Amino acid sequence: MVRAIVGANWGDEGKGKITDMCAEKADIVVRFQGGANAGHTIINEHGRFALHLLPSGVFHKNITNVIANGVALDINALKSEMEAVKSAGVEFNLKISDRVQVLMEHHVLLDTYEEERLADKKFGSTKSGIAPFFSDKYSKVGIQVWELYNEEMLKEKLKGMYEKINISLKYLYNKPEIDYMQVYEKLRKDAEFIRPMVTDTAKLLRNAVKEGKNILLEGQLGSLKDIDHGIYPYVTSSPTLAGYAAVGAGIPPYEIKNIIAVTKAYSSAVGEGPFVCEYFGDEAEELRKRGGDKGEYGAKTGRPRRVGSFDTVATRYGVEVQGATEVCMTCLDVLSYLDTIKVCTGYEYEGKVYKDFLTTDKLYKSKPIFTELEGWKEDITKVTKYDDLPQKAKEYVEFIEKEIGVKISMVSNGPEREKILYR
Ligand code: GDP
Repeated sequence: MVRAIVGANWGDEGKGKITDMCAEKADIVVRFQGGANAGHTIINEHGRFALHLLPSGVFHKNITNVIANGVALDINALKSEMEAVKSAGVEFNLKISDRVQVLMEHHVLLDTYEEERLADKKFGSTKSGIAPFFSDKYSKVGIQVWELYNEEMLKEKLKGMYEKINISLKYLYNKPEIDYMQVYEKLRKDAEFIRPMVTDTAKLLRNAVKEGKNILLEGQLGSLKDIDHGIYPYVTSSPTLAGYAAVGAGIPPYEIKNIIAVTKAYSSAVGEGPFVCEYFGDEAEELRKRGGDKGEYGAKTGRPRRVGSFDTVATRYGVEVQGATEVCMTCLDVLSYLDTIKVCTGYEYEGKVYKDFLTTDKLYKSKPIFTELEGWKEDITKVTKYDDLPQKAKEYVEFIEKEIGVKISMVSNGPEREKILYR
């Protein structure tokens, strides 16, 4: 069976925990899109880890982990992550696609310099090089892993590539130029580092599908950050939808039978862009402090996340564009401190109420319409069965389920792997 776990919102919904939990039953865990620009937090018996590029299956001995064709492969980031996991005594099996594109030093520099140049018009990039990486990929000047092993071709390609890049560095950004031979030497070392892991992962996955193996496709970020369906241009530069998992991994689309969209019991977002349900002031600070397992601060950048109420308009849209077959709600325990809990159930735009997720310009001018539900005001982290939750907590979950139109099959009531309530 092929299953995808994806985000229904702006990312950071807690997919890492759910993937880590579901990975137990998987034979293969696959990263199919994105790069090292976002992070999953996983807490298990080995410790607390922020994974950016490694698939979440690395903590399970018998799982094959795949970095597939659709990913932005940042080999520096991969190395440090591998070291962090290995130093906790964890051994894992990782395969890297021979057709995945390599994220390079100039991508990170151009990302950083461009944000500087844009100043107050910046996108709020994590400066991991993702946007310049995808520009190169779709301009067909990027480098796929197999090219690293063709030395003469690689040298020639880099020479031509850096002629153009250096013009931007020098004249647009007024920054030092890059010597392509230094890049070449670095890439050759990187190539040797990854060599034992490189293979035709798409073939591996197609064969695994034929053999009936359990494959878990692990999404990064969420629907509203998708390049085609999200809050453009405040999106990531690649698709974040389950539909793309077939492309990014290289398996038949009709094989993805189960799509779990993960959503948080409240909202959080990083970076710029419209965020209708946003809280400000003390209300925001309180939720930010209590959110997640250590407050709502970015796994990659440490910057404070924007927070708000649950948003049924954004989430219904997010769940629908994912084609979710079920929904997992995380962080319900976080809301236990509230007397009443606000849920954003509509957007008011130019005097009219909308239940549809509008385009970015209209979202910016929309005001949230809140419905208030009663809180449950007791610790729910010790609860082990859904039915044992306080009545008001169940009402909260069921109210949201009705609004978003897809079954909430799992509720997470704490960051640890075992804190999950099935319905
Ligand atoms: P991801 O990128 O979607 O995996 O999300 P992150 O890992 O960046 O953010 C989710 C945060 O919430 C992490 O700090 C998790 O440890 C934490 N978390 C996940 N599920 C729960 C939960 O049910 N309750 C609480 N309190 N924290 C959770």
